[in-house]
Amino acid sequence: MDAMTENSLKSLSSAKRLIIKIGSALLTTDKSGELNHNWLSSLADDIATFKRNGAEIIIVSSGAVAVGRQALGLSLGQLRLEEKQAAAAAGQIGLFHAWQEAFARHDTRTAQILLTPGDTEERRRHLNARNTIETLLSLGAVPVINENDTVATEEIRFGDNDRLAARVAQMIGADGLVLLSDIDGLYSADPRHDQSAEFISEVAEITSEIEGMAGEAAPGYSSGGMVTKIEAAKIATRAGCAVVIADGKAHHSLSTIDGGTRTWFHATATPSTARKRWIAGALTPGGVLTIDSGAVKALGNGKSLLPAGVISVSGDFERGDAVVIENSAKDRIGCGLVAYSSKDANLIAGHKTGEIEALLGYRGRDEMMHRDDLVIDG
Ligand code: GLU
Repeated sequence: MDAMTENSLKSLSSAKRLIIKIGSALLTTDKSGELNHNWLSSLADDIATFKRNGAEIIIVSSGAVAVGRQALGLSLGQLRLEEKQAAAAAGQIGLFHAWQEAFARHDTRTAQILLTPGDTEERRRHLNARNTIETLLSLGAVPVINENDTVATEEIRFGDNDRLAARVAQMIGADGLVLLSDIDGLYSADPRHDQSAEFISEVAEITSEIEGMAGEAAPGYSSGGMVTKIEAAKIATRAGCAVVIADGKAHHSLSTIDGGTRTWFHATATPSTARKRWIAGALTPGGVLTIDSGAVKALGNGKSLLPAGVISVSGDFERGDAVVIENSAKDRIGCGLVAYSSKDANLIAGHKTGEIEALLGYRGRDEMMHRDDLVIDG
């Protein structure tokens, strides 16, 4: 067993940063789009226990379209894209309010985040979304995320929250992702049609054989079936995040996943190695930061790059862009995502962190480049 597999998550209760994705079918009682408040309360109870035990929790919640279509009197049939978007706009309010209420009983704050694919994929926007989520988690809040359905067009939609949840897992380095729906896990064939179908409880690696077991997506409110769940599991496990598919219909189903029926997909990397690979994969660095010998040493010891250690800045870049780091002899020592634009980086280079606000007129990050956002060349 190599180091990567050894580091991988073994049980949900040991997860440090856990994403829980909830399908529409669980949140609404039936086709009427009524929210299932009792079920929500039971889930909030389970989540409160995980939080008390030290885990950070992020929720990815579907249900805006299911709730909103009823409120707007839209038919039960297939909706056109603009009708779906209208339904999401109307439904998201009630959906989020229900989450807020469920957590208020535990004195826990929630925060709503609506994302489009660009927010997780483009390095610049990714850094902003990631920092916001990190800040919320450090303040003890539970971020509740959905796709920004009202602005996303067909071509640029995630389309299903399974994939959105996997992208979020990748973005924030989660070690566990639970896809909670009305499906209890993966079978070797479709159990509705094939009596010999066997339940698969552990998947070490998602091979084409595993992908072949997913079959067709089931119709209904939610766009995700087993196909999108396997797609999501592929993204997340490669990003260092273990994935669990489990049936969430029963009350308190989150707390019974360990030891219960579920399919567990093992991570095939650690979140930090996967993130470093992603950062290093930036195609065109936008500039160069030249740093002094003290900063070179600090970076070698796993520290962040502070403005004080930067001797000079070259290139034209925005906050969140990839830049190269060089020592004073102009040897490349690594690369990373920079927390300031080239204009602002020039103004604060060589200065103490405490001077940033006076120099720029706003309080930005303490670091020029956070240690999570940089990769030292091996
Ligand atoms: N974003 C959609 C909603 O909130 C759900 C997408 C999905 O079904 O995965 O209604």
